[in-house]
Amino acid sequence: MTDPSADPSALMRAGDRGDGVRAVRERLVAAGELPASAVEDDVFDGTVERAVRAFQQRRGMLVDGVVGPQTFRALDGARWLLGDRILLHTPGHLVSGDDVAALQDRLSSLGYPCGRVDGILGVETDEALRDFQRGVGLQADGVAGPKTLRALAQLGRAVTGGAPHALREADRVRSAGPDLRGRLVVLDPGHSQVEPGAVVGDVREADVTLDLARRIEGRLAALGVQTVLTRGLTGNPTQLERAELANALGADLLLSIHCEALPSTPQAHGVATFFYGSPEGGSAWSATGEQLASLVQREIVARTGLLDCRSHPRTWDILRGTRMPAVRLEAGYLSHEADAARLADPEFRDTVAEAVVVAVQRVYLSDQDEGATGTLRLADVLARVRAP
Ligand SMILES: [Zn+2]
Repeated sequence: MTDPSADPSALMRAGDRGDGVRAVRERLVAAGELPASAVEDDVFDGTVERAVRAFQQRRGMLVDGVVGPQTFRALDGARWLLGDRILLHTPGHLVSGDDVAALQDRLSSLGYPCGRVDGILGVETDEALRDFQRGVGLQADGVAGPKTLRALAQLGRAVTGGAPHALREADRVRSAGPDLRGRLVVLDPGHSQVEPGAVVGDVREADVTLDLARRIEGRLAALGVQTVLTRGLTGNPTQLERAELANALGADLLLSIHCEALPSTPQAHGVATFFYGSPEGGSAWSATGEQLASLVQREIVARTGLLDCRSHPRTWDILRGTRMPAVRLEAGYLSHEADAARLADPEFRDTVAEAVVVAVQRVYLSDQDEGATGTLRLADVLARVRAP
């Protein structure tokens, strides 16, 4: 068994043993998921797997009981309480943890928005921290040490009941106006040629998602939208690399496209969308992501008649790591006979692409008119936007 700190891509699952498993056990103990005595052992047994699942469930992560890079990072971050260590933004070095999330939450509630409460100490949090320090007469050094934390604790909540970062995100979209020309949308076809995702017969998820992305790309281009795909026929980026590409480009929106297979549940079918947020609610929430997810969901359901599996908050890397509103679409199940037949149909893919583009346009129209769902054609939308 590999030590996860030596090889962060190593996966640990039931049956494994060794120092890596011991490291996981220690962190589960620190996170309160296992009793203190659990550090004595180095076996990934059923108790550890249940604890991992419980932890993943609580964090809104994919619940698989396997410790990969994302779960390990979240576990590792869970032991930090605000004040346990000095926090400082260091370019090129990822500082993350529950203490960072607490710092972000505190800064945001005091009126120093630092983007999303994602537990990652990035540039926006650094700037908010320095602004706060200046505001209270401390040296603006971006170091969250004892003095700064005391000042944070002493100040009453300047903002109550709001989620300033969510409001700011919505404001940015609203102030952009309805015209899509010049906007940048990153399309993320799930998986890759080397890791094709779900494979059912000769249909591969990676091919379907790339084809869907290209159909969406063509329609967005017609509206003057710039698009960038996170991969083509080559490339096999991780979820975080895909998110970072969108961040580096300063994209306005990101749409990640998938169509899974659930061989153990062949009756599962339908369309679902996911946006950034903790299933428990709270301030980790992308309001505009939720709006886009809901519009994509409703437009696709209305046009295709696929089962409505609704929109859900999740903290997956592609949603959490992106700084713009981001949505992951599950456009049907390849393991379901009827869904698979439709996914193989080019006309169906065109319909999904059209639904996505109308949903994107409606976000910028701040369009809450549910009556029009599924009935707007692209040309109608264009006419509304370009009307004098
Ligand atoms: Zn997938």
